[in-house]
Amino acid sequence: MQTNQIELLNKALEKPGFLSAVEAEWLLYNCPTDSLVSAAGAIRDTKRLGAITYSRKVFINIINLCRDTCSYCTYKQEPGDPLLSMLNPDQALAIAEAGRDKKCTEALLVTGERPEQKYPEAKKWLHSLGFESTVEYLADISEKILQKTGLFPHTNAGSMTKKEMTQLQKTNVSMGVMLESSSERLVEKGMAHEGAPSKNPKVRIKTLQSAGELRIPMTTGILVGIGENESEMVDSLFTIKNLHQKYGHIQEVILQNFEPKPDTAMKDFPSTPKEYFLRVVALARLVMPDMNIQVPPNLNPGIFARYLDAGINDWGGISPVTIDHVNPEFPWPTIESVKGVTQSKSKTLRARLPIYPEFIKGGFISSGLQEHTHLFVDESGLVREDYINGF
Ligand code: SF4
Repeated sequence: MQTNQIELLNKALEKPGFLSAVEAEWLLYNCPTDSLVSAAGAIRDTKRLGAITYSRKVFINIINLCRDTCSYCTYKQEPGDPLLSMLNPDQALAIAEAGRDKKCTEALLVTGERPEQKYPEAKKWLHSLGFESTVEYLADISEKILQKTGLFPHTNAGSMTKKEMTQLQKTNVSMGVMLESSSERLVEKGMAHEGAPSKNPKVRIKTLQSAGELRIPMTTGILVGIGENESEMVDSLFTIKNLHQKYGHIQEVILQNFEPKPDTAMKDFPSTPKEYFLRVVALARLVMPDMNIQVPPNLNPGIFARYLDAGINDWGGISPVTIDHVNPEFPWPTIESVKGVTQSKSKTLRARLPIYPEFIKGGFISSGLQEHTHLFVDESGLVREDYINGF
């Protein structure tokens, strides 16, 4: 290794979190993968002691109409499509109940971006249920799910205003909005987010800032390989890091690798190279040493163990009940197999709630929600082993 690489890796190890964006980018270009990965793994083992986690969940696909169009998306449907989902309260509750029966603790509620602004069908459907907007319905169904099944709602409905998030905050222990990328180039003509004004980084950052002001534990992350360059990718990591430094509310960062899907505008775009993605994962740990960093195992079948080497500490939501409606092409591995892979790296797998332990204790959620978490977690803040094993 060159002197520069040794100095920068030593800095990352000895003063975790002090790498500048310029230094991080330099490492991304120049540092051998093995060295990056082993430094990232060492930092995880110092800063994120304990188990590797996952959230046992059900994916409740409330409505998959969407006002926007991202060039890589297969989640979004059109009226009349066979995979169109518009779940009424009974249907959503039935999925949550099936999750409760399998000892899930998270009800992931997902919608497209403000479907009622584009589709009269969505508006009519919401009116038939007694609501003016998707968020109003989400607030209502979140309450029903929490009250009737005990599952913890976690909503991912795209960009939201502060007022909308306030409505959901009463029942959602956390919420999610992917930054995807901080690059404004990606909304330009011919780029991945050209048809998706809500993916303008300014809009996403505003949502994350509002969540910070409201002290909502947030899940965010980046989608790697959608046309951003290395410098923009590093900037995306630092954008998230800076938001967390200001508000302390980012509970986890998801790193996803782009994979082209049939019937999308980006079907011929290349997959994110596996080694590059591994380097990005390791770099994320160097940049954010204390953060919960997640790589979903289903997007990397057969090779996801390597991300443990590169410093992740979470596998994200895995469902024993439902499919991943955002990536139906990539089924989740079984929880047993994820456990086996985790153990093969001498780590323990534990279930967590959709709110991480440090945020349960951190004064982020109401006392009512906090009390509810205590029915499920042990002193570590993770889901009690006997709760899952009693199943
Ligand atoms: S905003 Fe979300 S649901 Fe809408 S097209 Fe983009 S990725 Fe798909």
